[in-house]
This record gives sequence, structure tokens and C-alpha cells, in this order.
Amino acid sequence: MSHNSTIVSTVALKCPKCHEGNLFVNKNVYQYKRFFDMPNNCPKCNQDFQIETGFYLGAMFVSYGLTIGLNIGIFVAFVIFDAYELVPFLIASGASLIVTVPYITKVSRSIWITLNINYDPKAIENYEA
Ligand SMILES: [Zn+2]
Repeated sequence: MSHNSTIVSTVALKCPKCHEGNLFVNKNVYQYKRFFDMPNNCPKCNQDFQIETGFYLGAMFVSYGLTIGLNIGIFVAFVIFDAYELVPFLIASGASLIVTVPYITKVSRSIWITLNINYDPKAIENYEA
């Protein structure tokens, strides 16, 4: 039986414990219907996804870090190509945020829960038994 690495599973928005169940009801990050809905438990290994009230507030800090990192990357690219000017930078920054924020929002939750729950290769077996 193959399984994804923790990084692949995190980026693919999978359960941190079994790396197979989906963290979100709606996997499409650009479809806003039920955007934030997560199952209460992993459909594959029964890991609790609603660990405690306000658990995903911590994902805000992850999201903040990713957004700042993205903007630093854009800024560095402008500087490397010797093209830095404020208005084009702000336009590039805004456009990249519009495109990436839906994914960043979800992957932040995925990173946050992965930081808090360890991978268990026997999670699904144990749940099915
Ligand atoms: Zn799972």
C-alpha cells in the first residue's frame, strides 16, 4: 500500500493522520459553495477534524506567513529584474493575492492541523478493525 509524504498530503489537503481522507467537503478551491465546510471526522480513519473550538484560528498565522512570503517573493523578483516601481508591484501583488488566497486559506488549515496531528501509518487499519 502506498501513501503520500506529509508534504504532498498537506499540499493536497488530505487528513494528517492517514494521508487519504479529504480535509474539506468541497475540494475545489475556486468554488465558493461550502468553501469552509470540513467533515467532523476523517471519512477514512475517523480522525477528529474539529479538534476544539477555535482550533483553526491558528491557521490565520500560517496564512499570514504564506501571504507575506508570497509578497516578499514578488518583491525580490521585481528587484532581481531591476523593474521595481511601486504601482506595478502593487498591481502584481494584488493580482497574485486574488488568484492564490482561496488556496492559501485552505492550505493554511491543512498546515495547521498537520503541525498538530502526527501521521499514523496504521490509522485506517485500526479504524476499520
Ligand atoms: Zn484520516
